[in-house]
Amino acid sequence: MSGLSQFSAVTGGIGWTGSPAIGGAWTTGTSQTQLSAIAAPPPKKSYRNGLLLLFLSPLLAAIVAEAAFLIAQRVFGTTLIYEHLATISFFGLEIGAIALLLRVFAFNKNIWPRLFRDWQMSFLCRRCGRIFIPGSAL
Ligand SMILES: [Zn+2]
Repeated sequence: MSGLSQFSAVTGGIGWTGSPAIGGAWTTGTSQTQLSAIAAPPPKKSYRNGLLLLFLSPLLAAIVAEAAFLIAQRVFGTTLIYEHLATISFFGLEIGAIALLLRVFAFNKNIWPRLFRDWQMSFLCRRCGRIFIPGSAL
C-alpha cells in the first residue's frame, strides 16, 4: 500500500566506560503519512479485547470477589460468601465479554461493509483535499 512504509533502524554505539562497551538497539515499526491515514479504508473492529476478557474472566472474577469480600467485611462488618461472589462476578464478566464480542461481530457484519463500500466509491480531490462520493449530497 502506498503511503505505508515499513522501517527498521539500528541505533548503535561503541563507547569507552573504563572498559569497552558496545550497545545496539533495533527499532522497527510502521510509519504512515498523514494523507494515507486520512484516506485509509475503514478498519474492522478487533475481537481481541472481548476474547481476552472471556479467557481472563475466571482470574478477574476471583480478584473482584476477593475485593468485594474484603470491602464487605471492613465496611459492613458482614461476611459474604466468597464462592457466591466469585460465581456472580464470573457470570457478570462472561456476559460482558460475550456482549462485547457480539457488538464487534454486529459491527463487522452490518456496519463495516457499508463503510467499506462508501470508501471504495469515494474520491480524494487533489485540489482541496476533500474526500467525497460523486453524485452524493455531501
Ligand atoms: Zn476539491
